[in-house]
Parts: sequence; C-alpha cells; structure tokens
Amino acid sequence: MARLTPFHALFDERIHRIDVHHHYFTPDLDKEKSNAAVGWKTPAANVPWSSEISLQAMHDMNVDFAILSFPALASGSVDELNRATARRRNEYASEICQKHANKFAFLVTLPFLNDIEGAVHEIQYGMDSLTAYGVSISSCYGEGPAATYIGDERYYPIWAELDKRRAVVFLHGSQVPSSTPYPSPFLGLPITEVPNETFKAAAHLVVTGHRRRFPNVKIILAHLGGNVPFLSARVALLSNYMGCTLTPDEILDDFKTFYYETALSASELSLTAMEKFVQHDHILFGTDFPGKRLFATTQKDLTCLQRSPRV
Ligand SMILES: [Zn+2]
Repeated sequence: MARLTPFHALFDERIHRIDVHHHYFTPDLDKEKSNAAVGWKTPAANVPWSSEISLQAMHDMNVDFAILSFPALASGSVDELNRATARRRNEYASEICQKHANKFAFLVTLPFLNDIEGAVHEIQYGMDSLTAYGVSISSCYGEGPAATYIGDERYYPIWAELDKRRAVVFLHGSQVPSSTPYPSPFLGLPITEVPNETFKAAAHLVVTGHRRRFPNVKIILAHLGGNVPFLSARVALLSNYMGCTLTPDEILDDFKTFYYETALSASELSLTAMEKFVQHDHILFGTDFPGKRLFATTQKDLTCLQRSPRV
C-alpha cells in the first residue's frame, strides 16, 4: 500500500484529531539550560525527547496526528553555523515524519531571521525537498532594543516567498524577558511573556498593513493569540488614533484572518470569547506537548478536539 505523504495525511478523512502545536527537541537542544533561563520545567519524563514519547502521549490524548515544530528561538546570528543548525533540525524532523508518515508532519525551522537569503533558501528546501507543511516562526528576532518584529520590512522577501507558496506559518511567541527576567518563580517567561509576545507580533502584523500585503499566508497564532480577543478592540481604536491608516473595522477584520490554536489557553471563558471573535474553523486544537504534562480537558476542549484544521 502506498505510504501517505504528510500533506495528504492531513486531509485523510480518517484523521480527525490534529494537534497543530506539538514540539520536537533535537539532541543538541540543552533543555535544562534553556529551561533555567526562562523559568520553566519540562516534565522529566519528556526529556530526552523521542518520537515514541509523543506517540504515547498522542495515544493517551486520542490525538491522531501532530504537526511538529521546533521551539521558537529569538536569538542567533547570521552565519553558516546558524544555517547548518536549522538544516540539521529540519532533516531530523523530516526523518521522523518519513518514519511515521501517518502520525507526523513538520514545520520548517528557519535560520536566524536576519539572514534573509538563508531563510528563503531553507523555506524552499524544507517545503520542496523535505515536504514540510509550512514554517514555524518566532514573534521577533534579537533581544531588548535590538529585537525586530516579524512584520518589519526587512523580512518582506521571506514573506513574499511564503505568500507565493500560500504557506502555513505557525507564529509562536519568543521567550524574551520584558522589564525583568520574570517576576516570580511561578511566572516564568512561558506563562506571561510568550502569549504577550504572540499578541504583540500579531498586532504588529495588522497595524503595519503586513497582513494585507501578504494575504495568502495562513498564520496560526499559538495559545489563542495571547490577549488578542481582549485587546484587539483597544489596538483598533488607539492605533488608528495614533495614525494607522487602517480604520478600526479594518484592523479588527485583519485580526480575524488569523487561525488560533488552543494549547494551554483553553477555558470556558477564553473559548467562548474566541468563538464570538472568529469563525469556528479558525480555532484549532493544540497541546504544546512535550513542554508540559497532559492536562485534563474541559468539555469545550473536547469540542475543539473534534475539529480539524482547514488551513
Ligand atoms: Zn510551544
């Protein structure tokens, strides 16, 4: 029997529970060190990560298919080493997807985004030769005053390539600190900063007109877009007041073009808000495994579980 390619597998009607937010870790990723920097605890049982750990979790969660992405990293440099690291990660993910084609697809990891030429080349290689489903991208690149958000004009050649391909982009907040590294051991960067960064990057894409300039890219915002359902009206009013040429209604319309996934953000309240905000097929199921243990799901989560991405 012919083996399904990951792309076809996504549209196989037998597959009905798809996790769009599922990470893989490569052996070179020092999770202990990266966790210490951001105030996080990856469950000991999930490291060192292997595809078997994810397959077991998917079985336990009744998830049929997962789209793998590498954790969002905002730091890096423009050099051959950075390109080689991204390539190694993509080939690692591709091998897993080939071995378990009916279980996994993956999103291309790009070199540090200021390497425009390297990023465009990796999109082409990843999507053409490794049959990746799309790309994974961090909310910004660089840290502190040097951080540049992904809607910046310097990245237009990358977005033009993605738009031409009608690619799926998974936008994940970066783990960069704001005023403090983090205010409490109970509030590591993944808890507050990451969803805020996702919202900030999404708002930036909207008010700069970037979202309209590249309308064919399908962008999935991690963690229900952070504060998007609660702060988008504020952005619409105040950005227009500050000189954004889009009307408040246009700004809100552009926020509604995003897809929103539920990982670690689903509650009765947040899902009710999202269901009022966007069409139901723009709400996708995600888990953020293996960064966390399996959590019990609410009835609304289970409703989300039944949905497949239509991106
Ligand atoms: Zn994540």
